[in-house]
Amino acid sequence: MAKNITETDVVIIGAGPVGLFAIFELGLLDMKTHVIDILDKPGGQCAELYPEKPIYDIPGMPEVSGQQLTDQLMAQVAPFNPVFHLNRMVTSLEKLSEGGWRVTTDEAEMFDCKVMVIAAGGGSFQPKKPPIPGIEAYEQSDSRNGTGVHYAVRKMEAFKGCDIVISGGGDSALDWVLSLQPIAKSMTLVHRRDAFRAAPQSVNKMRALVDEGKVNLHIGQISALTGDRGVLAGAMVKPKEGAPVLLICDIFLPFFGLTMKLGPVADWGLNLHENLIKVDTEKFATDQDDIYAIGDINTYPGKLKLILSGFHEAALMAHHAFKRVYPDQKLTFQYTTSSTKLQKKLGVK
Ligand SMILES: Cc1cc2nc3c(=O)[nH]c(=O)nc-3n(C[C@H](O)[C@H](O)[C@H](O)COP(=O)(O)OP(=O)(O)OC[C@H]3O[C@@H](n4cnc5c(N)ncnc54)[C@H](O)[C@@H]3O)c2cc1C
Repeated sequence: MAKNITETDVVIIGAGPVGLFAIFELGLLDMKTHVIDILDKPGGQCAELYPEKPIYDIPGMPEVSGQQLTDQLMAQVAPFNPVFHLNRMVTSLEKLSEGGWRVTTDEAEMFDCKVMVIAAGGGSFQPKKPPIPGIEAYEQSDSRNGTGVHYAVRKMEAFKGCDIVISGGGDSALDWVLSLQPIAKSMTLVHRRDAFRAAPQSVNKMRALVDEGKVNLHIGQISALTGDRGVLAGAMVKPKEGAPVLLICDIFLPFFGLTMKLGPVADWGLNLHENLIKVDTEKFATDQDDIYAIGDINTYPGKLKLILSGFHEAALMAHHAFKRVYPDQKLTFQYTTSSTKLQKKLGVK
C-alpha cells in the first residue's frame, strides 16, 4: 500500500456545525474520525458567514453566536481527538474492492475509510474571482508554488522575497498584508476606495506601514495582468482618477470574499435532487453503500435546513454507521447521564 494513505473508521467531509456534532455522535460509539474542510477553520457557515450573529433556536441555548456555537462544539468533540485537515477540498471518492471508500483531496492526500459522512452543507466555500480578463492564465492551483495568482496562502515561505500585490479591503486582505510584508521584497495593497471593512487595528497597522514606506497603497482597481506564457510580471491599476499605473509583481493575491458552490460533490454519482443528496430518514444513508449525508447537503420529505435537524441526523447516522464499522458487535443504546462507559469516553471524572 502507498505510504501517504491514512486509514480511519470514518471520513467526514465538512467541518460545519453538523460535521462537528457527527464527530461527537460517532465518537460515543467508538468510531475514529478524520474531518476535511476547504476552509481554514471549523464552523462552516456559522464561522464563515455569521460568526457574531446570535442564533436563537439551538435547543438549550437561548442565544449563541455562530462562533460561540462552533467553539462549544469544538470543546464537546475534544475528548474524541478528531483529526482535522483544513484548507483542503475533497475532490474524489473511489469505492474500494475490499469495502469502504478512498477519499482524495486537492493536496493529493488519500484516506481509506469504512464509512463516509458527507456534511458538505451548501457546498464548498470557494473564492470569488475578480473580473480581470485573462486572469485564468496566471492562476496557480497549488498555492505552495510561488509566482502567479493565488486565492489562498497555504505556505507563506513560497512568497518569500517576492513582489506581492494584494487586492481587497476585508480582514483576509489586511491580515495577509501584515503577515507577508516582513518577508516580501515589496508589498502593495490595492483597494477600490480609501475605507476598509477589516478590523480597525489591522487598518491602523497597515496605515502605519504605509507611512513608513513599507507598504504601497493604491486606491483603484486592478484592470489587467501582464506577463509571458503564464508567468506573471505585473498588474495594471486603474486609479479613481488619473492614468493607469503598472505595478511590478510576481504574486497577485485577490481577496474578494467567498461564495458557496456545490463543487465536486456533484460528480460522485450520488442520487441528487436539485443539487442536494437524497437520503432516507431512518439512517440518512445515500444510495451508495456506506456513504451518509447529513445537514444542509441532504434532502428528504419535510427537510428543514436547520442546525438542530442536522444534529438529529448525525445521531441516527452514527447508530447505523456503527453496524458497518463493527459488523460483529451489538450496539446497546445508552444515555450519557447514566452510562459510566460513555462518561469514561468523555473524560468525566
Ligand atoms: C446568515 C445565516 C443565518 C442562519 N441562521 C440560522 C439559525 O438561526 N438557526 C439555524 O438552525 N440555522 C441557521 N442558518 C443555517 C445554518 O447555518 C446551516 O443550517 C448550517 O450551517 C448547516 O450546517 P452544515 O454543517 O450542514 O453545513 P455548513 O455549515 O455549510 O458546512 C459545510 C462545510 O463543508 C465544507 N465543504 C463542502 N464541500 C467540501 C469539499 N468538497 N471539500 C472540503 N470541504 C467541503 C464547506 O467548506 C463548509 O465548511 C443560517 C445560515 C445563514 C447563512
